[in-house]
Amino acid sequence: MRETVRANKADCTGCGACASICPKGAITMKPDEEGFLYPAVDGAKCVSCDLCEKRCPAGKPVQANVQHAFGAQHRDARVRGASSSGGVFTALARGVLARGGVVFGAAFDEALRVEHVGAFDEAELAGMCGSKYVQSDAAEAIAHAASLLERGIPVLFSGAPCQVNGLRARVGSRYDELLLTVDFVCHGVPSPAVFAGYLRELEHRHGRRVTAYAFRDKRNGWKDFSAVATLEDGTQIAGGQTTDPYLYGFLQNLYLRPSCVQCDALRGAHHAADITMADLWGAQDVAPGRDDDTGLSLVLINTQRGRQAFEACRAQLAVFPVRDVDSLLRYNPSIARPATAHPKRQAFFRHFAGHGFDSAHVMKLLAGPGRAERIARRILHLPRGLLRRVRAVFQRH
Ligand SMILES: Cc1cc2nc3c(=O)[nH]c(=O)nc-3n(C[C@H](O)[C@H](O)[C@H](O)COP(=O)(O)OP(=O)(O)OC[C@H]3O[C@@H](n4cnc5c(N)ncnc54)[C@H](O)[C@@H]3O)c2cc1C
Ligand code: SF4
Ligand code: SF4
Repeated sequence: MRETVRANKADCTGCGACASICPKGAITMKPDEEGFLYPAVDGAKCVSCDLCEKRCPAGKPVQANVQHAFGAQHRDARVRGASSSGGVFTALARGVLARGGVVFGAAFDEALRVEHVGAFDEAELAGMCGSKYVQSDAAEAIAHAASLLERGIPVLFSGAPCQVNGLRARVGSRYDELLLTVDFVCHGVPSPAVFAGYLRELEHRHGRRVTAYAFRDKRNGWKDFSAVATLEDGTQIAGGQTTDPYLYGFLQNLYLRPSCVQCDALRGAHHAADITMADLWGAQDVAPGRDDDTGLSLVLINTQRGRQAFEACRAQLAVFPVRDVDSLLRYNPSIARPATAHPKRQAFFRHFAGHGFDSAHVMKLLAGPGRAERIARRILHLPRGLLRRVRAVFQRH
């Protein structure tokens, strides 16, 4: 009897499409020991039709698009302030809401869990703005979006490339007139359990509840973004890209989902979405004078439908062409290739299983060997025991 969908667990992106495809409702998404969601099949309900495995999009080639690249920035400074990049998502979403459509994207719930929800108006859209550096649970949203499309309601679905791929696997191309899809250049996602563990640690340390969290606060500018936790009394705890342990661990790939480090199929010109958004890191090379450090988006138009939607919201945006996307790769390697897992990933999860998120331990793992030890290792290829003694000598001096 089937227990899960993918024989090789690392292939599964956790998009949740299989759960919404199963005609018997036999699949639920359950967290594993690292906290990532995977499909679990209820043997009593499964009729072995294998539809889940046949339709699972993970690892299947995604066709290459002829992409058109633009730089863009929302004209409204408040929208840019609430967005991680240039606020293109909000411009597209407003266009779909104005047509009576529903926008799906990732938002926090009251317990600061991140899940995909549907927004029917501008107020509900606000919670979707801004990147959340944790995997969003999209399984129910995929089913919900599919049922709205079946009823003839326009939908904008925005998510990670694998989530848009999951929605496409669920609905196929039947609703092309009604469905607009938007994804982003994706660095990868940490598990919800790791983020929840970090929040618990913060609450324990400060003796107060965390009521809001921003992963891409722009108080020091778009490029030097900060992570900011807001406590119940309004106090804000801000950390930078190398000083906030959670953000640092994410950026150093310490706790990404296993599928993220082998995610080759959804990069470059290969995206299932109509539009791919990104930060225009490297703007100084391709668009000198455009970066005012309030946020600038790179927009890759993948389809004709994407082009029409972008044109329709263009009045909200300052737009310029980007001619040489390849030159951006050294600033934004995720455009073309997946991240490499940090060598201490296993050590992190071993410690996490016993102690929860431990900022001091994370910073120690990320610090790596000291400079003297690195030189010693490289030159002398010292065995571990001897290395420890060398390190002790350096520490004494
Ligand atoms: C986990 C993650 C990794 C990223 N990695 C890169 C990268 O390596 N390089 C790069 O250039 N850009 C990356 N981005 C994209 C970038 O940060 C912006 O989200 C994107 O450019 C859109 O910005 P915006 O200003 O138009 O809109 P914003 O308002 O910032 O975007 C919000 C949109 O992002 C979606 N979203 C937010 N968090 C999640 C999530 N956890 N899962 C699914 N969807 C989510 C929301 O649904 C909404 O549609 C990443 C985003 C995320 C969430
Ligand atoms: S459909 Fe998505 S969640 Fe289901 S097995 Fe495939 S990748 Fe995993
Ligand atoms: S890196 Fe790939 S598998 Fe991971 S969240 Fe992004 S699109 Fe999905």
